[in-house]
Amino acid sequence: METKSSQKSELKKPCVNCGSELLYAPGTTSLKCEYCDHTEAILISENGFEELELKGYLSEMGSQSHSEEIMMLHCKNCGANQHIEEHYKSFHCIYCSMPLIVEDAYKDEWITPGAVLPFQFDQKEAHAIFKKWVNSLWFAPNKLKKASLDPEKTKGLYAPYWTFDAQLYADYIGQRGQYYYVTRTVGSGKNRRTVTERRTRWYPASGHISGFVDDTLEKASKQRTGVIPSKIARWDLNLLQAFDSSFLSGFITEKYTISLKNGHLESQKEAYRIATRWAKRDIGGDTQTISTLDMKLSEETFKHVLLPVYISAYTFKNKRYNFFVNGQSGVISGQRPYSFWKIFFLVVGILSIIAFILFLADKGQA
Ligand SMILES: [Zn+2]
Ligand SMILES: [Zn+2]
Repeated sequence: METKSSQKSELKKPCVNCGSELLYAPGTTSLKCEYCDHTEAILISENGFEELELKGYLSEMGSQSHSEEIMMLHCKNCGANQHIEEHYKSFHCIYCSMPLIVEDAYKDEWITPGAVLPFQFDQKEAHAIFKKWVNSLWFAPNKLKKASLDPEKTKGLYAPYWTFDAQLYADYIGQRGQYYYVTRTVGSGKNRRTVTERRTRWYPASGHISGFVDDTLEKASKQRTGVIPSKIARWDLNLLQAFDSSFLSGFITEKYTISLKNGHLESQKEAYRIATRWAKRDIGGDTQTISTLDMKLSEETFKHVLLPVYISAYTFKNKRYNFFVNGQSGVISGQRPYSFWKIFFLVVGILSIIAFILFLADKGQA
């Protein structure tokens, strides 16, 4: 029996009016034709999305259902793996703006995303956020302001993440600390005074905790150039949609380069941190220590999810800079160059004002 899903993610939906490709319209659940504005609703699965059982995938990746083939382009400059859409004739790496050759695309297999968080606003709006940000920067070179005016440099990327759910159980042994205060006298003679000091009394503590760990988010991209800053890597996962490739139409999708196995290892570390927090809360008191924590996870499931980010990469004086805008919340973060001359003239200006004030003060005294 054929268990492998043979669905193709690149089933293009042509416009019924004019035949051109329909693209996902951000903030909606529809596809839209760029040319004649014809729209078509994306059929959202009523069943929501399913969490996949982790065990089978960890032991036998690829030979499972829920995997499929997609067209990928590999950037030789920075190593990013990008899924290309057919309508891109010329194409630049989203991270490092290196030109990529569409003929170099190859077929690759991936675990089909379980869910996607669709873009909530379009590229024009993302670009307006960039522009506002750049114009608010102090000491930015004028050329930067010009460079950032090119909207073609701002692209929407669906970044790959793993999320994990599990039932957590742990036994712990530790200590509960209770604060108490003592006052004592210090110094001598005139400097004699009383001070209050905090001390801790420790009591043994042990116990058992359990709970459900929901949606531990682990990045699935190894990308080292243009890493998405943690400041903007926060999404409301309650708004995830069951995966439908229609949501990707018109955007770039990055394939995970951190394996499910390694993502899972990271999620276990995160689960351990969560268990530590829970155990400390369980111990109570003013402060806590934990000497042993024996943690078990069961009923582990995972999802491959795609999360929206707008990225703009550009080179300025041989140095590369990236801007990022969260495609759901609009939060922006970016690296920026400083203009040497703007800072130089400001410093010269301030120094001359100080010199002038000193000169006046000097004259007034004479
Ligand atoms: Zn059309
Ligand atoms: Zn690249």
